[in-house]
Parts: sequence; structure tokens; C-alpha cells
Amino acid sequence: MSDDCIFCQIVAGEIPAHVVRETDTTLAFLDVNPLAPGHTLVVPKDHYERLSDAPSDVAADVFHEVYELVPRVESVVDADATTVGINDGAAAGQEVPHVHAHVVPRFEGDGGGPIHAVAGERPDLSDEEFEEIAEGISASHRT
Ligand code: AMP
Ligand code: ZN
Repeated sequence: MSDDCIFCQIVAGEIPAHVVRETDTTLAFLDVNPLAPGHTLVVPKDHYERLSDAPSDVAADVFHEVYELVPRVESVVDADATTVGINDGAAAGQEVPHVHAHVVPRFEGDGGGPIHAVAGERPDLSDEEFEEIAEGISASHRT
């Protein structure tokens, strides 16, 4: 546990939250400042800042809980769809440095955008640049 981490404090029961699911390794609770009714966060119980800081089985557990939650949340708030996302790192908008997946219920005509709306100016990549990036990713190892 990281003492000054708000999500660790929720996991420890030191500050209140609307907990909706719990497993050995994960906790899911309602976002206190929801983008939509039913906006839920899934966190690993142990403190990891970024997704890739977590061991692969814990990361898989978090995604499994997202999988379990989406239909349940949609059904409870009568949503039409869901946006699932992780702000993985400060430059991506992560404000709480304890990895968490957002499950955001979406409604026809809710005025929101697709995941594509999160990025800034789009790059205009050449074929060579696509290939170089693809080959780099294929050949890379976790750092
Ligand atoms: P992010 O920008 O991805 O780090 O998102 C952090 C999220 O945590 C925001 O959507 C906040 O509304 C939410 N949040 C912050 N504090 C709490 C809290 N005490 N309980 C529930 N959600 C919280
Ligand atoms: Zn934490």
C-alpha cells in the first residue's frame, strides 16, 4: 500500500467508496465524480502506478473485471454502450497514480465522443513509418 494514495486508502477501507465488486486482487467502485451514471473504476488491490507496472496476472484480473462489469453496469443504468479506458500515465491524463480502468456507460445522443477524441493532432505517417513502427513493436521486449 502507498500511504498517500487515495485508491489504496479505499482498498484498505480507510475512506468510503461505493464498492460494487471485489476479488482477491481487484476492487471495483463507483467514480465519485462520474462522467455518467454507473461510471465505475476497477483497480488492482496492490499499488501499481502504470498498467505495465502490474504483474500480467493482475493486469488480466483487472481486465476480467471490466469484462464482468460492462454488461452489469449497462443493464443497471440502462445504457446503450460503454467506453472502456485507462489514462495510463500523466501525459494521458492520469491524475490518480494507481492504475485504474474506467467503465463509462454511454447513451445514444449523450453528446460524448469516441476514444478517437482523446488524442490531439493526428500524424500523417508514410508507409515506411508505419512499417518501421510495426517492426519496432514486433521486435520489442518489455522494458
Ligand atoms: P484519472 O484521471 O484516470 O486518474 O481518473 C481518476 C478518477 O478517479 C476520476 O474520474 C475521479 O473522479 C476519480 N476519483 C478520485 N477520487 C475518488 C474517490 N475518492 N472515489 C472514487 N473515485 C475517485
Ligand atoms: Zn495506490
